[in-house]
Amino acid sequence: MTAAQQTIHVGGEWRAALSGATREIIDPVDATPFEVVAEGGVPDTDDAVAAARAAFDFGAWPRTPVAERAALLRRVAALLERDRERIGALESRDAGKTLEEGRVDVDCVRDAFRYFADLVENENGGGRVVDAGSDEIRSVVVHEPVGVCALITPWNYPLLQASWKIAPALAAGNTFVIKPSEITPLTTVVLIELLLEAGLPLGAANVVTGPGDTVGARLAEHPAVDLVSFTGGLVSGTKVARSAADSVKKVALELGGKNPNVVFADACSTPDGFDTAVDQALNAAFIHSGQVCSAGSRLIVEEPLRDRFVAELSRRAELIRLGRGTDAGVECGPLVSAAQLARTETYVASALAEGAVLRAGGGRPAGPGYFFRPTVLDRCHRGMRVVREEVFGPVLTVETFRTEEEAVALANDTEYGLAGAVWTSDEHRARRVAGLLRHGTVWINDFHPYLPQAEWGGFGKSGIGRELGPGGLAEYREAKHIYQNLAPRPVRWFAGTTTAKG
Ligand code: NAD
Repeated sequence: MTAAQQTIHVGGEWRAALSGATREIIDPVDATPFEVVAEGGVPDTDDAVAAARAAFDFGAWPRTPVAERAALLRRVAALLERDRERIGALESRDAGKTLEEGRVDVDCVRDAFRYFADLVENENGGGRVVDAGSDEIRSVVVHEPVGVCALITPWNYPLLQASWKIAPALAAGNTFVIKPSEITPLTTVVLIELLLEAGLPLGAANVVTGPGDTVGARLAEHPAVDLVSFTGGLVSGTKVARSAADSVKKVALELGGKNPNVVFADACSTPDGFDTAVDQALNAAFIHSGQVCSAGSRLIVEEPLRDRFVAELSRRAELIRLGRGTDAGVECGPLVSAAQLARTETYVASALAEGAVLRAGGGRPAGPGYFFRPTVLDRCHRGMRVVREEVFGPVLTVETFRTEEEAVALANDTEYGLAGAVWTSDEHRARRVAGLLRHGTVWINDFHPYLPQAEWGGFGKSGIGRELGPGGLAEYREAKHIYQNLAPRPVRWFAGTTTAKG
């Protein structure tokens, strides 16, 4: 990359947008521009897809042996480790995270590359011999790369979401074009540089920085793209699925969530239990200012525990230190944009108008930037928009239940189904409730951890398909059945056509 505006990478060349358009990247801490990127459009996208297509059809990467592909992914992991501070700081500034969150993100990205390297290397070709019921038949199912992948990512975990797509796509032998969020493209551009430094053949990795309704939409509809993997909101995800339909490409969607955090009173019967459940409810709702797809934004607490739990949670929420993510002692950054701040304000206002009771936060602190104070809204119910829809801000709603059945019904009463948690000291209840929750991830006495080895994704409108785990690799492959007849002979279905031999 030779100049700030040359953030489009096509077939081995860094370039500016063909139109010459650029976009300023805003620091959400003080609302000032700090970087300029290329604002790509449809012509840039078409070039990038053509480069990825040529690299898939004729290039080296899909034909590279698995061990070499795995070795390259491990080299990328090592480069991420080398550049951890630089990339973590860039992610912190671009997305408004604390520096420590930025560093942890880089570690998770590194782990994703290592995991998929190990997975493809250890599966021994990944083929499966099928018992055809005859010694005269050799039948095997093999898995091949799907082709050219279009990868579209959001702004909340820009690099992490990119890695959950890029690492399995490359491990499987695909080529790709990625379109990062127009708000937070910087670390994705850096990751492409690291892939090239690690030795990825030119054309296998392409990036177009630019908006969703042009670059993203073109990728989703493009006839030369074989798969589109999208992470983002429900509205855009629905559009992507529609755009992809005409060319019948594979579609993977990781969408939003409205995630329940169910707390039974028995989890809080000891001082330590109470402290842990409150602490984790705070973490579930407010880490990265609630801009997390799996944020525990719905606290569903057993009625007799409500007052004590909400009082302590609200006291602690008021103490969360907001500020620039690189400043000492700061625990939480701002929202990512003015639009996200306005959206959060609208949801809180509507909740209060609908009868919610404000226990903490509720507005912006004094000063510049897109900050919003961690907010606790008590006495909420499913009739309220703030309980049904994803706010994607630091807003926690409180509902209550009296029976286990009611808790499960409330937790499942959402059009989404990404993640949820149950807090209880009763092992039988924990298993029962976990089994009944209609969510892609269920935590018992915890919130937020994920494992690269375990599939991530949602039920309902939280998406289609899975990332991570073996299922996350399978998204990037086509199964091919090879059926070999070792003793071919005529079948004589059309017996009347047989007159003479030879
Ligand atoms: P968004 O839907 O606005 O944008 C996501 C990406 O899609 C961006 O790159 C955007 O430019 C692009 N885009 C927008 N319109 C498009 C279109 N018509 N065609 C193609 N691409 C288009 O989402 P966001 O605001 O960036 O991210 C927040 C959302 O992402 C939340 O809903 C959150 O829950 C979700 N998310 C989900 C997961 C998950 O794992 N399920 C992870 C992170 C974020």
